[in-house]
Amino acid sequence: MCQTKVLSAPSAKAKFERTTIERRDLRPQDILIDIKYSGICHSDIHSAYDEWGGGIFPMVPGHEIAGIVEAVGSEVSKFKVGDRVGVGCFVDSCGECEYCLNGDEQYCTKGVVQTYNNLDYDGNPTYGGYSQKIVVKEGFVVRIPDSLGLDVASPLLCAGITTYSPLKHWNAGPGKKVAIVGMGGLGHMAIQYAHALGAEVTVLSRSMDKKDEALRFGADHYYATGDAETFKTLAGRFDLILNTVSANLNVDAYLSLLRIDGTMVNVGAPAEPNQFSVFSLIMGRRSIAGSLVGGIAETQEMLDFSAEHGVVPQIEVISADQVDEAYGRVLRSDVRYRFVIDVATL
Ligand code: NAP
Ligand code: ZN
Repeated sequence: MCQTKVLSAPSAKAKFERTTIERRDLRPQDILIDIKYSGICHSDIHSAYDEWGGGIFPMVPGHEIAGIVEAVGSEVSKFKVGDRVGVGCFVDSCGECEYCLNGDEQYCTKGVVQTYNNLDYDGNPTYGGYSQKIVVKEGFVVRIPDSLGLDVASPLLCAGITTYSPLKHWNAGPGKKVAIVGMGGLGHMAIQYAHALGAEVTVLSRSMDKKDEALRFGADHYYATGDAETFKTLAGRFDLILNTVSANLNVDAYLSLLRIDGTMVNVGAPAEPNQFSVFSLIMGRRSIAGSLVGGIAETQEMLDFSAEHGVVPQIEVISADQVDEAYGRVLRSDVRYRFVIDVATL
């Protein structure tokens, strides 16, 4: 067993405490990672505040993990000590179901093992990246390209893949008009990927505050959803809407912005159910969909694509002492655009 320092939430909405936990002894296929940076995803807040229910406490959040390989198990073949690596939202899956075999491990029929706030297949709770060390099976570890700093790489492991995957799946590219709703951690990555893939990108944010930065990230157009005229101006415009918002929206209003056959894909995950009228779909053969992170091979593809196209998050590096405050700032949308914990400060 290896002792590691962590930031742990003792109960829902409690302040984080510094403590230590044990990571398991290396099994033949395991890797011990010395974590350098850990991003703060809005999902960490939904989880640590137990908004989705079923929270396992004490909880060590964090699924945007970037670090260096410190030790490898006897059968590890893909990685060696010193390699720059990342771990995202899940750390195990059955490996046998049709979805695992297809590289969609996140939809594993046995149930993917999430990086934290979950039980592994032996029934032990998983603890995430607000931690100095983590032990992960090599099949769930990805390689961080040399040209990406570990600090900017960490948010790619969730915010990056969660936006890259649906944009690819729904064919965002040349000739496609894509709207990104919400310009936070996920949204500001989505703008950059949609632009790099060749789509015409429109940002829909609540106010005009982020316009200059949206254009810098590659947006072609920017509208404030607080302005009622926006929905009239943009009616029937988009092939694809990617909704990254952490709260419920008026779905009918957004569906009205789709062309015939257009799709609204939800990645934002508010806890409360939402409603829409089926007529919003029927009258335009439209679809409403959702998407969960992305598989391991696609996560590697996303990292390589990010390195090649210079797609990186705009981050604010914080110390372990600032995490509670950072949560408050994310909730107030006062983040430009991702907080990343410097794990050395633990
Ligand atoms: P974030 O940084 O807080 O960004 C969310 C953005 O939504 C905000 O910047 C804001 O954009 C907008 N927003 C916030 N509150 C709003 C409200 N009440 N009404 C309208 N717009 C609002 O969060 P994030 O880390 O990007 O995560 C976003 C959501 O995605 C969370 O629910 C998270 O759990 C979920 N998520 C899902 C997956 C998945 O696999 N599906 C993966 C990761 C995260 P503007 O200021 O521009 O309006
Ligand atoms: Zn996340």
